[in-house]
Amino acid sequence: MSLPDYRSLSLWHDTADDTFVARPALPGPASYDVVVVGAGLTGLWTAYYLRRADPALRIAVLEAEVAGFGASGRNGGWCSALFPTGWDKLVKASSADGALRMHRAMQETVREVGRVADAEGIDAHYQRGGTVTLARTAVQLQRLRAGVAEAHARGFTEDDERLLDADEASTMLAADGVLGAAYTPHCAAIHPSRLARGLAEAVRRHGVALHESTPVTRIEPGALVTAAGTVRARHVIRATEGYTPQLPGEHRTVMPVYSLMIATEPLPDAVWEHIGLAARPTFGDLRHMIIYGQRTADGRFAFGGRGAPYHLGSSIRPAYDRVPAVHAALRRTLAELFPVLADFKVTHAWGGPLGIPRDWCASVGLDPATGLGWAGGYVGDGVATTNLAGRTLADLVLGQDTPLTRLPWVGHRSPRWETEPLRWLGANAGLQLMSFADRQESRTGRPSRAADLFGRFLGH
Ligand SMILES: Cc1cc2nc3c(=O)[nH]c(=O)nc-3n(C[C@H](O)[C@H](O)[C@H](O)COP(=O)(O)OP(=O)(O)OC[C@H]3O[C@@H](n4cnc5c(N)ncnc54)[C@H](O)[C@@H]3O)c2cc1C
Repeated sequence: MSLPDYRSLSLWHDTADDTFVARPALPGPASYDVVVVGAGLTGLWTAYYLRRADPALRIAVLEAEVAGFGASGRNGGWCSALFPTGWDKLVKASSADGALRMHRAMQETVREVGRVADAEGIDAHYQRGGTVTLARTAVQLQRLRAGVAEAHARGFTEDDERLLDADEASTMLAADGVLGAAYTPHCAAIHPSRLARGLAEAVRRHGVALHESTPVTRIEPGALVTAAGTVRARHVIRATEGYTPQLPGEHRTVMPVYSLMIATEPLPDAVWEHIGLAARPTFGDLRHMIIYGQRTADGRFAFGGRGAPYHLGSSIRPAYDRVPAVHAALRRTLAELFPVLADFKVTHAWGGPLGIPRDWCASVGLDPATGLGWAGGYVGDGVATTNLAGRTLADLVLGQDTPLTRLPWVGHRSPRWETEPLRWLGANAGLQLMSFADRQESRTGRPSRAADLFGRFLGH
């Protein structure tokens, strides 16, 4: 039987300097103190902090494929303080102080990821260069100014987020047609696969049992089921994000939505001198159909966006990782932002599923009665958030009351998604509305109400 070609999953896997040979699968029935399902960043950070806090704990991580197989090894590499839950929702769930603590905790998390990477010798190409968000139309500029003013009214300062005029913005990132930008220092560009694979190795080195090629078919209080037998544990943590709907009873917990990416070949220094991004800030703009990019440590553009369709029944298949029309659109958008790139080769095109809860609110929690824990629903902002989730789950498992366990996302439960085909209709109509809103705004020069309409459908 031929081995799965994990290197072809993303630019990151292809350049991780890793063989991706799966570690031994779970050999048979077993018993642990804590078992984590899924070796993405959520599962790995959870195991890492638990084991560091209590080296006597017997911990296992069970992974269906290999560590970093999911979104954790395929993402845009924005280790950012972005949190997907809207400010007003956070305030409603707690208070203005709670919302601010949540955001401050995220900012601190960006630094924490860099600290652990350093301490564990993980060469994740971590560079805390911030994020530059461009405005390229009058409507985007209006939204940008309103967003920064709103952030300042909420208690953030110029050190958290500030406006750049067209000249300052273009010096940082010489994209076409820039009218202005916002800059925040709270983001690091990383190499996702190196982070996930390095963390997996660190976790194993610290004494956690990491079994790959071990799909879990059912999770129950105190036990989970695999082909090799049942594993018993006081605490079972679900860290399966976009794949969650495949587990019995979890079909409507999150919606797997694909985000897709491309990467160019390494670009000559002369091109980078023209484009900028010298300190490797990540970048995007304020269109409704999200785009995101970074300058990689080896001098490529890694650039992604939404637009891939949602698949009926929340199904996930390798074929969905690549949608030629969306990859071609990403290429066009990149060349439109940076006309100098029109003739450069795109060497990698990939994608993967992320998890969206019905109310768009990421959450982490542990039911002390059943011992079942979870974290996820990060939408597209999971790279740093998984670290905060892991530290929080470690505190919850150890029964500690800490500033982390008092953050507003802890214990939150999103409503479930609609049954099919409503879910499919809503998700794909939403996608159409987003691109319609962008087209409408560039045609009319006025804010589109189409995006608000979709927000209202979601209860935003
Ligand atoms: C293309 C793309 C770009 C993105 N860009 C960014 C970005 O720039 N910044 C950002 O913050 N976020 C980004 N995200 C989101 C971010 O990558 C995720 O939120 C984050 O990696 C989630 O980590 P996780 O460990 O929870 O899930 P995953 O990394 O998806 O890990 C889940 C793991 O569980 C395993 N698993 C699933 N079911 C089972 C089972 N039954 N038994 C055993 N194992 C199982 C899977 O194989 C997988 O390895 C992006 C996502 C994608 C897809």
